[in-house]
Amino acid sequence: MHYQPQKDLLQDRIILVTGASDGIGREAALTYSRYGAQVVLLGRNEEKLRRVAQEITDASGETPRWYTLDLLTCTPESCAELAQRIAAHYPRLDGVLHNAGLLGEVRPMDEQDPEIWQQVMQVNVNGTFFLTQALLPLLLKSESGSLVFTSSSVGRQGRANWGAYAASKFATEGMMQVLAEEYQTRHLRVNCINPGGTRTGMRASAFPTEDPQKLKTPAEIMPLYLWLMGDDSRRKTGMTFDAQPGRKPGISQ
Ligand code: NDP
Repeated sequence: MHYQPQKDLLQDRIILVTGASDGIGREAALTYSRYGAQVVLLGRNEEKLRRVAQEITDASGETPRWYTLDLLTCTPESCAELAQRIAAHYPRLDGVLHNAGLLGEVRPMDEQDPEIWQQVMQVNVNGTFFLTQALLPLLLKSESGSLVFTSSSVGRQGRANWGAYAASKFATEGMMQVLAEEYQTRHLRVNCINPGGTRTGMRASAFPTEDPQKLKTPAEIMPLYLWLMGDDSRRKTGMTFDAQPGRKPGISQ
């Protein structure tokens, strides 16, 4: 995507990022901060979150707040409690990037471990839904809120071996469409990003023999992440976007 954001694109915006401890989420948090946002970091690993928070402090002088939430074990109650803690420090959320995700197993459907299937659904769908429900009141306090889910090419067209992950990303696209329609008359837009093959730990475990140097880095796919959180995308809702348009999806090995 060719997009040249203004340096102050996200000035005065408060943006929460899930899975901010690593990969694409870490890069999104650093990038949003660089473009002026106050970022709120969410993840399950305190040590890794602390490190990302420090990187942001070193770069911007602002110390972001971070909160731990394990999407595998979270409940509607623990998400509501977290939202209350966030609301004690922030008047609203202008953006939420649901980025945290679990790959599970890349293998045929008849071999998918039911327990891992449930974990993938819990992290990518149920936990993400509980958190969305808890954070909606804070998002609705924004004059132009942006709720962004993370999908995948296998969330639009099923492919052999992608099992629970593909099913969970179809559910993600569905959740986005339902919410977009429910809030179309309010100041909240809801969209999906498909990052496309990107150089992260998750990609390496899905494609162990692939040369990572051939993949875009998380930093290179940030233009779409910025555009969806800033005012330039204000009128877009209910849509699913590719961070790397035209890129052919990979085949699992
Ligand atoms: P990574 O594995 O590098 O990062 C995943 C992030 O999610 C980490 O911060 C991880 O935390 C967090 N996470 C995982 N499980 C949980 C949990 N139970 N509770 C809370 N946080 C959790 O993956 P990517 O950066 O590659 O992926 C980011 C998103 O992009 C995902 O939704 C993925 O499905 C999607 N995607 C990625 C593609 C790619 O090629 N990379 C392609 C298409 C979609 P921790 O640091 O503790 O592990």
